[in-house]
Amino acid sequence: MKAVRLFGKNDIRVVDMDLPAPGYGQALVKVECCGICGTDYAILNGAFSGMVDYPITMGHEWSGEVAETGPGVTHVQKGDRVAGDTCVSCGNCYACLTGNYINCKTKKNVGTTMTWDGAYAEYILFPARHLFKLPDNVDFDSGALLEPAATAMLAVVQARVGLGDNVVVHGTGPIGISAALLAKLSGAAKVMITGRKDFKLKLAKEMGVDYTVNTARQDMAGMAHDIFKGEGADAVIEASGSEMLMKDSFEIVANSARISVVSFFEKNVNLDIDTAVFKDVSILPVPGNRGMNMPALRLMASGRLNLKPLITGRCRLSDVPDVLNNLKTDNEKKIKIMIDCAI
Ligand SMILES: [Zn+2]
Ligand SMILES: [Zn+2]
Repeated sequence: MKAVRLFGKNDIRVVDMDLPAPGYGQALVKVECCGICGTDYAILNGAFSGMVDYPITMGHEWSGEVAETGPGVTHVQKGDRVAGDTCVSCGNCYACLTGNYINCKTKKNVGTTMTWDGAYAEYILFPARHLFKLPDNVDFDSGALLEPAATAMLAVVQARVGLGDNVVVHGTGPIGISAALLAKLSGAAKVMITGRKDFKLKLAKEMGVDYTVNTARQDMAGMAHDIFKGEGADAVIEASGSEMLMKDSFEIVANSARISVVSFFEKNVNLDIDTAVFKDVSILPVPGNRGMNMPALRLMASGRLNLKPLITGRCRLSDVPDVLNNLKTDNEKKIKIMIDCAI
């Protein structure tokens, strides 16, 4: 099979590999689509190099069709359409046995750090217990968008977005826009999204987000004040990785607000903890997508969550090294690039 492998920092190649054979409890899945993620770009550039055991196959946002199952597999069979989890847990440690498998001490992350080989490939080998069957009306594109959808959902859940809330989402990547839409589905009264690219803000608005703010030329705190009539934001979802926006969030929140953080900053950020204490503000982590894959799939199947407008480009497996190398320079008009992995 063809696979796109990373052999070291900035060393990415299309290679031929033997087709893996599914062992006990495993399925071999023919990959249909795989999304390219900002995390993949960061890994290519060595951002997490101490945590990556080269060579690896990247790709953690994927969907496909079960091609073969190993012994002991009962809940999926050949021909089932599936998406995969973002980590492979041991299934036996304290975290796993208390239903908290994303914090499994020996877990492998799919296509990223401490790596289980991912889906930049024609086939992926996967434990069947980490596969999610796609409902009939959820296509492969939506299936490959399940991971950002589920991560965005945990960001909304962690921020405890409730009926009537004023919500701010920082960041117009796939997770930011998905979180803004999920905040609306959770009953938020007003959702404001911030970003620096007009075309991304325009798409967010077309997909149903109420208010957009371009932080490259507009005053975020002033806009929040006007939009929320001085009442502040009850929930903030930080999906931009901007230290300035994270700091300014303390200014725009109402008392007892929640700020969930789904982005990476890749540096230490100084935060005004005193203000957080005085205003009773909670800061909550989003370490993946704990338990959110099935609810996200149900919402997709119900027709109430359609993230496919986020797909702004497509490519083939053989194009992936070029596409990834140029991801940031070509960033003007791109949100999610989907790889068609079937050759
Ligand atoms: Zn991702
Ligand atoms: Zn475990």
